[in-house]
Amino acid sequence: MPAKTINDVVALCKRRGFIFTGSEIYGGLGGAYDYGPYGVELMKNIRNAWWNAMIYSRNDIEGLDAALISNRLLWKYSGHESSFSDPLVECKKCGARMRQDKMKDQKKCDNCGSTEITEPRAYQLMMGLSIGATADGIINAYLRPETATTTYVNFKNVLDAKPHKLPFGIAQIGKAFRNEISPRGFVFRMREFEQAEMQYFVRPEEDQKYFEMWKEIRRAWWINSLGIPAEKLRFTPHEKLAHYAKAAGDIEYAFPDGFDEVEGIHNRQDFDLGSHTKAQDEFKIHANVMENKDSTTKLSYSDPQTGENFIPYVIETAMGVNRAMLAVMLEAYTEETLQDGKSRIVLKLKPWLAPVKAAVIPLARNVPELLTIANDIENSLRKLNIGRIELENSGNIGKNYRRHDEIGTPVCITVDHQTLEDNTVTLRHRDTMKQERINIADVSKTVLDIINEK
Ligand code: ATP
Repeated sequence: MPAKTINDVVALCKRRGFIFTGSEIYGGLGGAYDYGPYGVELMKNIRNAWWNAMIYSRNDIEGLDAALISNRLLWKYSGHESSFSDPLVECKKCGARMRQDKMKDQKKCDNCGSTEITEPRAYQLMMGLSIGATADGIINAYLRPETATTTYVNFKNVLDAKPHKLPFGIAQIGKAFRNEISPRGFVFRMREFEQAEMQYFVRPEEDQKYFEMWKEIRRAWWINSLGIPAEKLRFTPHEKLAHYAKAAGDIEYAFPDGFDEVEGIHNRQDFDLGSHTKAQDEFKIHANVMENKDSTTKLSYSDPQTGENFIPYVIETAMGVNRAMLAVMLEAYTEETLQDGKSRIVLKLKPWLAPVKAAVIPLARNVPELLTIANDIENSLRKLNIGRIELENSGNIGKNYRRHDEIGTPVCITVDHQTLEDNTVTLRHRDTMKQERINIADVSKTVLDIINEK
């Protein structure tokens, strides 16, 4: 059974080194978390699963890694400087500050229940920076609040470097920063987080077709690559569309407290390329864009056959990597009662997501003969290049199995005295706890098959 509450996963994350509170020894900092030894691996494996699906499995999407700090003008013309805000209200009684659209009851304070609430005011979510000695405290740059805009302004660079016919996309994974009013839900809402976003550029008349296509592709990825059951996912169209959107909705996951957003899919029309392009008058821009006298480049596309020059539409898929990791952990977290009445916690991750791919365990501690064989197996597994392999030399096999169950290691290989006689080892499977004896020569192939779920 998956985790019943987020607290189950929070406790496991701390105990086993997935996620720590940021700046913990100084009392923490709201909305910032540090990822520990196994958290970095799980995040990397989720990123890789996304990158594989977006870049390596297709021929129409290019990768990009843009700077996190950007010129203020990017965020002026994207509309963020004037309108990337949340409605902030304050309780006159207890002083609590809340995001109005996320309150349980908009007339009552979430903290003390008072009905004395201020009128909402727009609260800017971008984190401003003062860069360079001459700035002297004046905001002249921003930390990006999303990856998308930094992709749009590179549209021409990428297209010139690697020509494509429409439709084609640009994918980017990286950090984003938002001065959220109330960070909450562990890593669900943070002030520093990570996004995996893909912008797909299409002919305006084909927008609906590709919007539907990406809804399907992304849903299938959540199921097949991350292992989230179909019934725990749903697609919810936005009731109120943002001014730039023609169609939009969220992939939502059934968190213990209810369905909530993990990825957005948006038809952003020609708003973004239109906003950042120079010579806007030369194009028929459908979206309502701000006049741009600062851009130095036309972000348009020339049809090689017809010579027609126009601004493509954008279909965007925007996933939060931290939210994906949280959903994956909640789903994989399993508490089982064993035959002897004891219980165990096991993280039933898809094997390719597991932070440690295999653990090699000599049955007794510091027995040179056993350790030598264990080291040989460890080294041959490392050569497979499948990720982290661990050797456990503590001699406490029960404790080792428990630890590797909790971090989701798909397979443990135990070297014992019988190994010295017949060259076989015990292979223990995480989910079933079944043990089998196999020849040392077969270990690598067997582990590889397990990781690839063959
Ligand atoms: P929300 O409505 O939850 O504030 P959003 O609609 O503003 O999110 P997008 O701008 O579409 O989010 O960002 C794409 C994805 O980035 C979201 O689906 C989510 O997974 C992730 N994300 C957004 N804000 C945060 C945050 N503060 N902390 C962690 N992940 C976030």
